[in-house]
Amino acid sequence: MEFDLSWLLLGLPLAFFLGWAASRFDLRQWRMENRQAPKAYFKGLNFLLNEQQDQAIDAFIEAVQNDPDTSELHFALGNLFRRRGEYERAVRVHEHLLSRADLSRTDRERAQHALALDFLKAGLLDRAEAALQKLEGTPFENQARLALLAIYERSRDWPQAAAIAQRMDQAGQGRFNTRQAHYLCEDALSLAAKKAVPEALELLAQARRIAPEAPRAYIEAARLLAQQGQHDLACDTLAQLADIAPSHLALAALPWAESARASQRVAETLQRLEASYQLVPSLDVLEALVMLSEAQGASEATARERYVQHLEREPSLVAAARWIAGEQLAHDQFHPQVQRALDHAAKPLTRYRCAACGFEAKQYFWQCPGCQSWDSYPAKRVEEL
Ligand SMILES: [Zn+2]
Repeated sequence: MEFDLSWLLLGLPLAFFLGWAASRFDLRQWRMENRQAPKAYFKGLNFLLNEQQDQAIDAFIEAVQNDPDTSELHFALGNLFRRRGEYERAVRVHEHLLSRADLSRTDRERAQHALALDFLKAGLLDRAEAALQKLEGTPFENQARLALLAIYERSRDWPQAAAIAQRMDQAGQGRFNTRQAHYLCEDALSLAAKKAVPEALELLAQARRIAPEAPRAYIEAARLLAQQGQHDLACDTLAQLADIAPSHLALAALPWAESARASQRVAETLQRLEASYQLVPSLDVLEALVMLSEAQGASEATARERYVQHLEREPSLVAAARWIAGEQLAHDQFHPQVQRALDHAAKPLTRYRCAACGFEAKQYFWQCPGCQSWDSYPAKRVEEL
């Protein structure tokens, strides 16, 4: 009994000492590791600030290896990979983050968003769509819906795009009724191409109900009606356009003049277009006025005098070229060459230009093929801008 007690007296301090030493050792090692992780992290940060992305990635990988639980380092690394176009590696980092059971909800949503961005940048639209759909109900919902809208528009999936736009409209994330009207117009054009004209006209009527102030549905409907020989109805539709969106009348002035001629409504239409021209002296409305003046019985020379009157208001090369085309010159044998040179110079001035990106095109676009913006083209020729 005495023997056991002495061992116990000796053993207790020893055990205490060993325990203390072990704890000191662990603490020292832990501190060392902890010191190493920030060191590698700051090294990476330094490289990043010096635009040395390769070295930054090496340093971050080292930091991540030292401390695999640090989500911030994973985010930094994943973003770096994405910025460098290494999408596969970015996806791996973010998927690894998502597979961790200990990840907080905020970080999980952040990782899901980062993963969606990786897929979007990589052009993997199917996978991006699935990743974005998982962001419903998170703080990234707004951005995710906008990105989904862009995907559906790119793939011309108008019903899906309309569903998202409607959801955003209802959630108060902006007014999307004009956009929805565009989707209906796109659907209507597809139907019209398949000869389903009544269905197309119904969609255009629906578009006008959703966004009565948006000009496109009136213009598309008038075009379809004119193609069907229903010029009277086409004139009525364009008269509505003149009331609702006079700024876009230029886009439909010539078709209106043609329908007016076909439906014996020349005088009335001439008056409407004249009123519009007095407010905004548009080149297209001018063309329509020349056409209708002739249809009303004016001689070609008298009708073309409108071009000269236009030149008194606006120094326009396009109007000058149109006027000279019908004139007899003193040396008329040189007229074709002179006309060709004038038309060549005037041609770029008759294009339309996107106000958002400057993309120019011969035809008018409701969605810019350059920057994908909607309604970014003013309804004016380059010369009139
Ligand atoms: Zn553009």
